[in-house]
Amino acid sequence: MALKNNRLKTNQAGAFYVDSSCIDCGSCWQIDPKHFARKENNSYVHTQPNGKKEVHKALLALLDCPVAAIGIQEKISEVLSNDIFPILVYKHLSGDVYYCGWSSKRSYGASSWLILRPEGNILIDSPRWSPPLAREIRRMGGVSQMFLTHRDDVADHALWAKAFNCERWIHKEDADAAPEAEKLVLGIDPLLIGKTLKLIPSPGHTAGSIVILLGEHRQILFSGDHLWWNPEKEVLVASKRYCWWNWSEQLKSVQRLLDLDVKWLLPGHGHAHMFKKGEWKKALEKTLRFHKIITD
Ligand code: SF4
Repeated sequence: MALKNNRLKTNQAGAFYVDSSCIDCGSCWQIDPKHFARKENNSYVHTQPNGKKEVHKALLALLDCPVAAIGIQEKISEVLSNDIFPILVYKHLSGDVYYCGWSSKRSYGASSWLILRPEGNILIDSPRWSPPLAREIRRMGGVSQMFLTHRDDVADHALWAKAFNCERWIHKEDADAAPEAEKLVLGIDPLLIGKTLKLIPSPGHTAGSIVILLGEHRQILFSGDHLWWNPEKEVLVASKRYCWWNWSEQLKSVQRLLDLDVKWLLPGHGHAHMFKKGEWKKALEKTLRFHKIITD
């Protein structure tokens, strides 16, 4: 629980605050960039929410925070039910995509996603175990498969697998993080699961990182920690600073994604982004040019 006495000085005065227990996971400003931002390895409230809609958004961030570092120190009228997650973020021909919320400290606050499909729902990375979330997911048809993008984002996979009897997939190189996983991805060749879901091994951030592609056209890419969007600089980020395994392999993995037709990038950390037709390739080329992998 956030403590008023530990309120960070960077917060704007007002009802909402972030305290010093923040682990800098970025979930709050991913959900609600209008009120939360990052500064000096912490997040803070840069602008207090105003009105019912804005307070609702800030409360979502509060509920999602993996370490309960967001607090309220004044009375507010809005109340948020804890069954608010998952939240629909995108309707795609190949399945509706929901943000699960309930970020886990064990996954360093990484995002997880639920895809609703007639052939069986999919969980991408593991949220914190949460009975209200499990109830909602059960109401939506449960989970038949869980794909883990890499070793860092496995959180409570065992509890979710037990609850839904779902099959877990992880790359062999990261499998020690989820040794009970029923299915292993091998090597670097993309693996088609059904007609519209593709697992693309993308070693670099970790040896067993994979990204997950939904759809044949105007796709959604679940990128784990391989890539994310920086809205201030308007660039796709592959981060050397947060590369735990092999930076040159990570850049090769980035290059292998050039020919995709991505519309939405949904990362584990950092900002999501929508690309207009043709923009994905240009953005990726810009990133590869910056890292001197390609030249003009
Ligand atoms: S969600 Fe919580 S831990 Fe994560 S950056 Fe925001 S305040 Fe910090």
